[in-house]
Amino acid sequence: MGNYRQHITFAAGLGVAYGWATFIFAGIHWLYGSVAALLTTLSGLLPDLDSDTGVELRGFTGILGVLVAVAVWQEMEGVEPPPAFEFQLWAVVGAYVLVRHGLRRALSRMARHRGISHSIPTCLVWGAATYLYYPSDRHLLRLMMAAGVMLGFSSHLLLDEICSVNLRGVRVNKAFGSAMKLWTSSPWSTMAIYGLLVYLSWRVLQQWPEDPFTLGSPIPSPDVPFPPPRDLLLPPLEAPAPR
Ligand SMILES: [Zn+2]
Repeated sequence: MGNYRQHITFAAGLGVAYGWATFIFAGIHWLYGSVAALLTTLSGLLPDLDSDTGVELRGFTGILGVLVAVAVWQEMEGVEPPPAFEFQLWAVVGAYVLVRHGLRRALSRMARHRGISHSIPTCLVWGAATYLYYPSDRHLLRLMMAAGVMLGFSSHLLLDEICSVNLRGVRVNKAFGSAMKLWTSSPWSTMAIYGLLVYLSWRVLQQWPEDPFTLGSPIPSPDVPFPPPRDLLLPPLEAPAPR
């Protein structure tokens, strides 16, 4: 099976190519493309969250912790009346610690390596969840991010499959075929993941636009503070007064 570094490199390469392709072929702004590339890269680690060494889990919960902390902070900006700064600070720190340590403990208890987290239905679950919860109301954008996540996830399964075939292609080691699976030996986790998949698919169908093939309105360019707002710039030099 591929190791942590191989997985992240492979997924990052695909992610960059994917983001670039959305720009070249669909004219989508690079800012969206770069986020899609980031999601693809991170998703290359998702299947091994349950690995024995837990390098992926540590890296993943660390990054996820930062993202969740940022999300909590953003949420609090919108709260009326705005909570005290000290409260916001503790909420952000708390969210980070909870994800970084709490979620990691919980995941490492639950999971068994090459269990259900390493399967095709789980890939679809992550894709559907991304479509549902990506913070945008644009169908096309959410679809693009969900596709990035599934691309990264499948790149991992593919790499694990490739690595389980010996380079001369003759001998196949014991892990062959265990990377891309549709179910596991545990009926409970298999049923749970399919149940979750059915539920999420149903939610996706509810939100699916009437005319998915016209792809809705094109994605407008995002607001990027670049060049920086006027007030941040130095005032223009005064032209020398004519003599
Ligand atoms: Zn793996």
